[in-house]
Amino acid sequence: MTRTISILGATGSIGASTLDLIRRERDGWRVVALTANGNAADLARLAREFSAEVAVVADEANLPALRDMLAGSGIAAAGGASALVEAASRPADITVAAIVGCAGLAPCMAAIEQGRTVALANKEALVSAGDVMLAAVARHGATLLPVDSEHNAIFQCLAGNDPAHVRSITLTASGGPFRDWSADRLAAATPQQAVCHPNWQMGAKISVDSATMFNKGLELIEAHHLFPVGLGRLRIVVHPQSVVHSMVEYRDGSTLAQLGPSDMRVPIASCLAWPERMDTTCAPLDLAALGELTFRVPDEGRFPATRICRDAAQAGGAAAAVLNAANEVAVASFLDGKIGFTRIAAMVEEVMARYAPAAPAALGDVFAIDEEARRHARALLEFA
Ligand code: NDP
Repeated sequence: MTRTISILGATGSIGASTLDLIRRERDGWRVVALTANGNAADLARLAREFSAEVAVVADEANLPALRDMLAGSGIAAAGGASALVEAASRPADITVAAIVGCAGLAPCMAAIEQGRTVALANKEALVSAGDVMLAAVARHGATLLPVDSEHNAIFQCLAGNDPAHVRSITLTASGGPFRDWSADRLAAATPQQAVCHPNWQMGAKISVDSATMFNKGLELIEAHHLFPVGLGRLRIVVHPQSVVHSMVEYRDGSTLAQLGPSDMRVPIASCLAWPERMDTTCAPLDLAALGELTFRVPDEGRFPATRICRDAAQAGGAAAAVLNAANEVAVASFLDGKIGFTRIAAMVEEVMARYAPAAPAALGDVFAIDEEARRHARALLEFA
């Protein structure tokens, strides 16, 4: 049976892993929409390879180039924010939401409104829109499957169990490239060092988030929305080998964990095939070769991000949207060499202290909060 799929953020790391799985089961899939921001060349190449119905660049300045590269292919080319939403609204059995940042929120919501299956990698969208997004999922009868390896692991460990029996959920964190660095060394960390993750190949933004531990903090907020067992039952443990992707402890003392290689194709395959399973070419797990798996408590002195995110989840309302926007501006500024590594968390806290709007009631409120929080963050940069 052929299934239809759209990939929002097709030119990124998650997009590439998803397309790699599709490539191996070419007859099983028909590609509806592929999107990118500005990378028209890769998008056109992928759209041709997978005979997509439509290819969209969010940055409209790249539309002429995309049109040229798709000329004669029969593939529709489009550009701009509304074209992105239109593409995400096209009926597809599954939409992989893999745009980075809150920029992915509008298309992700458009996909949810179709009432089909959305495989969510774009954690910033859920962190920012939280309850508004989950209300839309319920209203439209959509199925939200978590792509993030930790949440996919938890989703698998919860299957067939009553959430009322959960004692705790533990998210594992690799600790990122700086997990053993001193505070002094962290202050001088460069963007090049931050994007070199020891275990995972990922886009620049999530790599920096991984280095600051904001990635784990955002994941804590994401887990709080996806698995409503109570914030007090959500834990984080540093596990440098990234083999145990997360675990669920039940009231009888049983802990179920999901293990696998550090390869995003595993959780993506779990979403694409759900509730079935599909083959992947990922290397099998060889625990004897690994020898040992280690775990330790996160150091929130050197990495305050998880504390800041837990506080935002506790505060609820608009706090996580403000946090996410401030972090996006801070990470982009760090990557541009405008601020130091340890300034990222400080900036997020300063923006949150200055701007505490009321809880968003609708999607438009989330966008307004996101924009205003970015304005506050940029103002801090000007006076730095
Ligand atoms: P990448 O930076 O590799 O890719 C991002 C994708 O989004 C690209 O297709 C990019 O297009 C597109 N994009 C960027 N900005 C915009 C914009 N303003 N509007 C529309 N499209 C845009 O990111 P990743 O694949 O690493 O991550 C994607 C999401 O998945 C993130 O939310 C991340 O946190 C999450 N995730 C990633 C994991 C990973 O292993 N990479 C693991 C778990 C979650 P272009 O190429 O043109 O710039």
